[in-house]
Amino acid sequence: MDRPRFVIEASEAESAAKQKGLTVVQHLPSLVESAKDLARVPISKFPVGAVGYGSSGRVFFGVNLEFPGLPLHYSVHAEQFLVTNLSIQSEPRLEYVAVSAAPCGHCRQFFQEIRRAQDIKILITSAEAGDDRDDTLCGQFSPLRHLLPHRFGPEDLLDEDVPLVLEKHNNGLSFSNKPETFSDDLINHALEAANRSHAPYSLCPSGVAILDGEGKIYKGWYMESAAYNPSMGPVQAALVDYIVGGGGGYEEIVAAVLVEKEGALVKQEQAARLLLQTISPKVEFRVLHCK
Ligand SMILES: [Zn+2]
Repeated sequence: MDRPRFVIEASEAESAAKQKGLTVVQHLPSLVESAKDLARVPISKFPVGAVGYGSSGRVFFGVNLEFPGLPLHYSVHAEQFLVTNLSIQSEPRLEYVAVSAAPCGHCRQFFQEIRRAQDIKILITSAEAGDDRDDTLCGQFSPLRHLLPHRFGPEDLLDEDVPLVLEKHNNGLSFSNKPETFSDDLINHALEAANRSHAPYSLCPSGVAILDGEGKIYKGWYMESAAYNPSMGPVQAALVDYIVGGGGGYEEIVAAVLVEKEGALVKQEQAARLLLQTISPKVEFRVLHCK
């Protein structure tokens, strides 16, 4: 059986669009419904699909995720999933997004972590002509600056040369006890993830690697927002990789490693443990500290 697709290669995206006499960007809105079907929303039953076009010509899917038994702020929005998906696939730039529902304020803010975010073009497929909420967005792509005109973003807090989300990060983290842990694949993936983390506000990067019953490893990293609350946790980011990589039920996750800085002011440990143990009670969870 074909597993759900969250990344479509440029050549494939192009030929699919061509068959309908469209460009890839024109074709994005018609993919939103199939993205929506992949959402995991047991609480709201309100699936959201976001389909993005990157500068490489690839097409990426994002969906919303909800976790019963946890506070709502553990949820992942479709646009956040989308940005995380691009980050994991090392896509340098998000140019267009077609999304099934109007991006909430939280997601408009989260997009700001991408350089020149105001130029990202958004189309809301549910917006109808005459809908006064989205009049300017009906059936056409419109720059994010129209959705969030008076922005607060990274440039309010950071120097211009600090890498933003989707830009190359190397946090230079390492273990003091490297020889002992070096052979452990899961630990190394978690360290690699922490080194790609976007945490310029707290300077507390972190990464998570998870292992499923078949021995497959997935990883994700913490991504901060200038507005703090829309930040994406490292476990949620690893779950994006898990879902993109074809992972099934969360109970199939058997082990997880979190790597974060020793003595960090912003710690993921307790929240990560709570999330992992709620979605996969038997998970073996380890925390390693690095410098
Ligand atoms: Zn949102």
